[in-house]
Amino acid sequence: MPVDVVFFGPPGSGKGTQASRLASTLGIPQVSTGDLLRANVARGTELGMIAKPIMESGALVPDDLVTRMLKERIVQPDAAGGALFDGYPRTVPQAEALDRLLEEEGRSLTAVLFIDVPDAPIVERLVKRAMLEGRADDTPETVAARLKVYREKTEPLAELYRTHGVFHRIDGDRPVEAVAEDVLAAVKKASGGKLA
Ligand code: AMP
Repeated sequence: MPVDVVFFGPPGSGKGTQASRLASTLGIPQVSTGDLLRANVARGTELGMIAKPIMESGALVPDDLVTRMLKERIVQPDAAGGALFDGYPRTVPQAEALDRLLEEEGRSLTAVLFIDVPDAPIVERLVKRAMLEGRADDTPETVAARLKVYREKTEPLAELYRTHGVFHRIDGDRPVEAVAEDVLAAVKKASGGKLA
């Protein structure tokens, strides 16, 4: 059975770090729409040219563009055994699209992991990341914009997924190792011990 897991949480919650660690542990690809979009920007594709100014402002790239890009990614052979979704879905229509896309493949979400971190440590982490990685969208202005977009558009997904029965809240305001242990335990439990 494929293992499809959504990582969701505020920007800077560490969901990318956690998805990447779990990808190595399970041998399942991390699918980060942020990374896919940045690759499009770097290659100068049509999608990249549309996405660049939107990403720099901290807003969301339109649902249909991101969903089309995601669909192309999850039908790749390496994702046949599942995918670890990092940064997708970010809106209710994206969550509905993901359900449909997985259903078309005879799959459904194994788990949704909500990496919960309060605002104060988030801002601190994002400012640090801006210095270390030099991400164009980690300036103080866009950090605030991205947090606002997250609260308005993405956080409501918690309620939606809570009713799905696959929802796990994980306290993300702890060292990476401790969070990773809980992430692995939640995914093992959700997959009914098939990963033990
Ligand atoms: P991230 O690396 O996940 O923080 O994403 C960086 C930026 O890419 C976001 O601030 C958005 O502008 C854009 N982006 C990434 N994923 C999505 C998505 N699922 N829907 C819309 N925009 C996205």
